[in-house]
Amino acid sequence: MGITVLVNAGPWLAVPPPGYGGIENVVAALVPELRERGVRVVLATVGTSTLPVDERISVFDDGQFAQLQRPFNRVMGVAAAHLHRVVTELRRRDDITLVHDHQEALGPTVLGALGREAPPVLHTLHWDLGKHPALYGGIEGGGGLWVNGVSFAQLARAPRALRALSVGHVHLATPLAVGAEHRPAARKGDHVVVLGRVTRYKGQHVAARIAHRTGRNLVLAGPVGPCHRTSEVDGTDRDNPDVQYWREDVQPLVDGNRVRWVGTVAGAERDELVASAVAALFPIDWDEPGGTAVVEALALGTPVVGYRRGCLPELVEHGRTGFLVDPGDEDALAAALDEAGRLDPGECRREAARRFTPARMADRYLRLYEKVLARAGRS
Ligand code: UDP
Repeated sequence: MGITVLVNAGPWLAVPPPGYGGIENVVAALVPELRERGVRVVLATVGTSTLPVDERISVFDDGQFAQLQRPFNRVMGVAAAHLHRVVTELRRRDDITLVHDHQEALGPTVLGALGREAPPVLHTLHWDLGKHPALYGGIEGGGGLWVNGVSFAQLARAPRALRALSVGHVHLATPLAVGAEHRPAARKGDHVVVLGRVTRYKGQHVAARIAHRTGRNLVLAGPVGPCHRTSEVDGTDRDNPDVQYWREDVQPLVDGNRVRWVGTVAGAERDELVASAVAALFPIDWDEPGGTAVVEALALGTPVVGYRRGCLPELVEHGRTGFLVDPGDEDALAAALDEAGRLDPGECRREAARRFTPARMADRYLRLYEKVLARAGRS
């Protein structure tokens, strides 16, 4: 497809991200596949991004993730400065066919307001909008803005005004799914893993509670607010809700033995931790919108055990690639962990290779680009 797409990855983290980074991992998986299909990609990101692209634009030298913990005005200032750079670029040139925006909330608000003279915008929703409808308040159609979800469930919960702009959903992907069906089986340890931001939505305290009750080893991996290591947490902002959650609900259950927090893991260390786990646990307290960590676990041959909500039923086949139980039923979750060890890791890897490769995701996005261009009268 001979088009030029400006992909806006936002100002928060480099692409690919140095460790944690849901949205940035999606962009890192998508862009190489788009370019292989003849799409020119202009990436709006930060200076430290290393993903090969045709052009890169940025205002910030480095990822602004830590600013997300600062007061609201500061967060908005960073988001607006980055978007100003994107808008300037769009005004300056006429070769951009379409904008594929991944910057939550302010991205579609600003880019959608540029009107029909500007290139059409496809905004990928990454958040659970049932829980945070205000994030996208005031967005209207008619100005060249369309959206897609990362799961059917996410779109179903989105406010009506956003659903009216929807051109469909595309499940998330991981490079780990490529060739996953041929990868030799990993040696399994005796631990269960929770991979993700330490935040109430992800339910690390439930996982820790179950680990202590059932005598099972649990490894928690992921950042606590802006902190990637235990040593960083003490000196940090006590008002941060994720730090508060960690201090009050998770840390008291972390004994460094039965339950361990290893901070942010990356690369081979992350893959080894997940591949050797008996199960990846998702005791989620929200409607997980896309679940990169879910598809990564499957690609690494690790069954998924979690609450049946959000995108999980679309990604996990109960009884084959994992077990999903009624939300809030901790006993059922604990029993499912016993069963998970009996599932065939090969089934998880084959499922990931079939459904969650970047190539498949890119093919689906190209179809959405065509749909958007047709609706915008640009095809
Ligand atoms: N991640 C990571 N290291 C960590 C924790 C998370 O590399 O210590 C990655 C994880 O592998 C996934 C992403 O960060 O690719 C989290 O994405 P997900 O959609 O699961 O969560 P969210 O975007 O909601 O935080």
